[in-house]
Order: sequence, then structure tokens, then C-alpha cells
Amino acid sequence: MNDKITVTKSSMPDFIEYTNEIKKLWETRWLTNSGAEHKKLEKELLTYLCVPYISFYSNGHLALETILHALHLKGEVITTPFTYASTTQAIVRCGLIPVFCDIEPDWYTIDADKIEALITDKTCAIVPVHVYGNVCQDEKIAEIAQKYHLKVIYDAAHAFGVRYKGKGIGNLGDAAMFSFHATKVFHTIEGGAVSYQDGSLLQDMEALKMFGMYGKEDAEMVGYNAKMTEFQAAMGVCNLRHVDHWIVQRKAAVERYRENLADTAGIHFCPVQKDVESNYAYFPVYFDEKVFGESRDEVAERLEKENIFARKYFYPLTSEFSVYQKMFPIQQTPVAYDASRHILTLPLYSDLSLDDVDRICRVILKK
Ligand SMILES: *Cc1c(COP(=O)(O)O)cnc(C)c1O
Repeated sequence: MNDKITVTKSSMPDFIEYTNEIKKLWETRWLTNSGAEHKKLEKELLTYLCVPYISFYSNGHLALETILHALHLKGEVITTPFTYASTTQAIVRCGLIPVFCDIEPDWYTIDADKIEALITDKTCAIVPVHVYGNVCQDEKIAEIAQKYHLKVIYDAAHAFGVRYKGKGIGNLGDAAMFSFHATKVFHTIEGGAVSYQDGSLLQDMEALKMFGMYGKEDAEMVGYNAKMTEFQAAMGVCNLRHVDHWIVQRKAAVERYRENLADTAGIHFCPVQKDVESNYAYFPVYFDEKVFGESRDEVAERLEKENIFARKYFYPLTSEFSVYQKMFPIQQTPVAYDASRHILTLPLYSDLSLDDVDRICRVILKK
């Protein structure tokens, strides 16, 4: 049996590099609550992401909940169901009502031309997702947001390091959430951040993750604990030294996939986006069974028999989750529904070898 290939594999610094970074913690004994590593990572990421403000959290999900809280949103939020559970769950947990907009068929991001029809007098915000690291149609979204006075909070969990027209992705909209989960392009084991444009949010963004306390004694709002530890931040400090190289490696794997699978009838992948510096986070492939002769699920099964594990990412739609008890008719987002039934994301991580990419493609193409 050939070696197992998983859909993803966490990138890591050398063991020695990490242990050197955390060594100081045995002297300072300052393990969490914005210590030296936290501050160091903050400073470095402000520069790397080219954003004016950033706050860190224990994970990306709580980062998203925090910005939704801090903006005092009420009512309906326009978003997409073709995303990870977190996006929709954060909206609902913040007492907001998700209104599902369809996605566009090339990059699977929110179809900006379909947003306006969903706006009511209760709409307060748009939460689009830069899904797979593909950049949303920001100009159109910004125009609608301005016209109807809506906040725009991007789920940029997949988009660390992406640049659009030379700008850091975190500068689109009012705020952007990044996930630093172990499986993401850049990680802090678990972790997350929000970058935002309005500096007056900073105190609230920091206090919410500290039980709602601005100072040492009083709590002025209902908060929780969502702090990033020094061990997490130290992993981030180390990983940041390597992330550019990892992105170059991912790019090589993606280019090999594109080359190997190009011009195969019934297989589609995202066209390259104009004005975008990609982070090559994922490689989603659309299987049209009528033309390719085999469904997405059949291809996934065949890969598994060869010890290769791709992922139906995203299936099902979040609007189909049993917790929502059919509240959200899936017919309202036909493109998203179709994508959830036809897309397979192929294995991709920084040290995936080109030989392995070739092996995966040979199985897909039955060569
Ligand atoms: C990973 C992810 C999240 C949640 O991030 P965590 O750090 O795992 O909490 C949110 N949205 C999307 C699209 C994600 O992929």
C-alpha cells in the first residue's frame, strides 16, 4: 500500500526553533494575558498583514464572535452557506439572524449581485467569506454597504497573507477575521485574530476576551475568556519566519495540480483571480459527473482506496445543518447547493511533494 496522504498537514518550525522561543517562559513565568510573545507577534503581524489594528483570540471562531459583539449588531446579517460551520454559528450565537445569499460559480464567494434583493430594514451587516482564499467582490460589496449603511465583516479564515491590488486582505471591509488553526496556512496551534480599521474598537475588542474588564477590577460589559496563550503566540512567531516559503511550496503543488488536470473534460477548478496575490490555501476541484463519468463522491471513494484522503469541503451547506431544522430553504442558494455536491478539495500542504501530486492526479484520471 502506498503511503497515506491526508487532505492537510500542519506546517511546523523545527523543534529546536520552537523550544528556543518558549525557553524564556520558564524564566518569566508569564504564560498568558498578553505577554512578551503575544506582543511580539502582534507587532510582527501588523506589519506582515499591513493592517492598522489587530486583536488576538484563542481561536478564529471567538475572534469572529467578538467583532460581531463589538460592533453592537442587531437584526439580520447577509452571509453565505458555503463555508465552515463557524461563520454561521458565530452569527447565530451573537443573536443575529443569518440571511443566506447565493455564491458565484467561479470562486464560490458571495454573489454581490444578489445581495441587494436580500436587504430589509432589519439588515445590519454583511459577512462574506474569502472562501479557499479567493477574494470576494469587494468593490461591489463596499458600494452596497455604503448605500444601506451596513457593516462588512469578512471571514478571512482562509485568506492569511492574501493581497488584493497590493493591499493586505485584512483591509477590506470594516474588519476581517483570521483563523490561526493548526490546519491553516499560518497557525498558532489554535488561535485567531481580527484586523479592523476603526481604532475606537480596540478597547472593546481587548476587553471582551478578558471577561468584559477594561481594568483590573470592574467588568463593564458581559465578556468571556478568549485569550491567546504565550505558547500559541510563540508558535506564531516561529511560523511567521517560514510562512512565505510555505506559500511558495504550496504554489508549486497547486501549479502541478493545474497542469496535470488541465483540459480534462468534466473537471473544473477556480480560474486565477486578477489583481490577487494568492496564498494557495486550498485546491478545490469541481467534478461534473455527466461529463467526467464519475461523481465527486465516487472519486473521493476511489482516492480513499488508494490511501489518499481528500475532503468534501464544504458539504453540507451550513443552512442544511440539522440544528437549523430546515429553517433555511436550500433552493434559495442553488449555486451553493450545487457546489456542495460537486466539489472535492484535494490534499494540499506545504511539504506535499510534486510526486504525491502526480500520484493523486493519476488516480483521479485513472492513468
Ligand atoms: C477555520 C475556519 C473558521 C474558524 O476558525 P477556528 O480558528 O478554527 O475557530 C471560520 N471560518 C472558516 C471559513 C474557517 O475555515
